[in-house]
Amino acid sequence: MEIEILPVPHPKQPIQDETQLVFGKEFTNRMFAMPYDRGLGWHSPKIKPYGPLSLDPAALVLHYAQEIFEGLKAFRRQDGSIALFRPRDNFERFNLSARRMCMPELDVDFCLKALSDLLKLEQEWIPHTEGTSLYIRPTMIATEAVLGVKPADQYLFYIILSPVAAYYKGGLNPVKIWVSDEYVRVAPGGTGEAKTGGNYASSLCAATLAATQGYDQVLWLDGIERKYIEEVGSMNICFVYDNKIVTSPLHGTILNGITRRSILTLATEMGYTIEERALSIDEVLEGAESGRLQEAFGTGTAAVVSPVGHLTYRDKTVSIGGGKTGDLTMKLYDTLTGIQYGRIEDSHNWVTLI
Ligand SMILES: *Cc1c(COP(=O)(O)O)cnc(C)c1O
Repeated sequence: MEIEILPVPHPKQPIQDETQLVFGKEFTNRMFAMPYDRGLGWHSPKIKPYGPLSLDPAALVLHYAQEIFEGLKAFRRQDGSIALFRPRDNFERFNLSARRMCMPELDVDFCLKALSDLLKLEQEWIPHTEGTSLYIRPTMIATEAVLGVKPADQYLFYIILSPVAAYYKGGLNPVKIWVSDEYVRVAPGGTGEAKTGGNYASSLCAATLAATQGYDQVLWLDGIERKYIEEVGSMNICFVYDNKIVTSPLHGTILNGITRRSILTLATEMGYTIEERALSIDEVLEGAESGRLQEAFGTGTAAVVSPVGHLTYRDKTVSIGGGKTGDLTMKLYDTLTGIQYGRIEDSHNWVTLI
């Protein structure tokens, strides 16, 4: 399929002061967009000026939330090259989310080509300062205008780009986490493994409660026993005991994070044993109190690694590793970002240069 490239009549200039970038507020001049019609398939791919979509008020996405998305980053390196981190994994996960939400799949190679074409046209928008990046948001929505509850016959796939500042300014800062015992994110058989907007909509209540009490993130427990650790906000979570890393298994209720997968590989190579198993909140609290639990950190594209300093469950607050960033957390952060920015050799073939 040939990608049509439309002119941008009024291009903007990227923000010069890169410290002023706010996550997800500023977008580049162009976007990629491609519609789908049942019977016709995906067709008419275009790179066109960034701008509002025209949607019928009855579009299915607006009523029944048939929507999926992805999140990845493009990095500008010292030598001027542009790098993506495991982008194929993102589009493969996009297809997994599509299947779960009864949406049409995309050709992964075509998506990678479309993204690469878009990035080449928008490369001046990839910020230059250490730690900054261009955030990439592939999205699919159901556009068919009908109020019946059913999988849509029409969809739109698009990719938008947003320059982002360094996540950490002056070192990794440990977060305060609130364990929710009232709300759950998903249950077995639900949509926990899909990156779909509805999972986020249903998390807002707990996140707002946590924020008003001074917490940064919500930690979710399993939906049945409300006892076992699942994940944190938009991150997976790992707990470090001696030379062991414990994290929840991929059993359908948590997101299969690409950062999680990469961190577990790196930690294995550093000599750590990985245990993907059920871990109860009681075991975590006990470990924090006895000191056997040395470090805890979240993993996700936005922060890469986010150290957990404090954790509150019901009326109990514990600190982990004295509320400071642990050595392993720091080492994993340095190694993964080193590979992304090209300071460390990419021996796993994780990086794709544009
Ligand atoms: C995106 C996401 C993650 C992290 O996935 P990465 O591929 O590492 O960015 C974790 N949990 C949830 C709920 C997410 O949506």
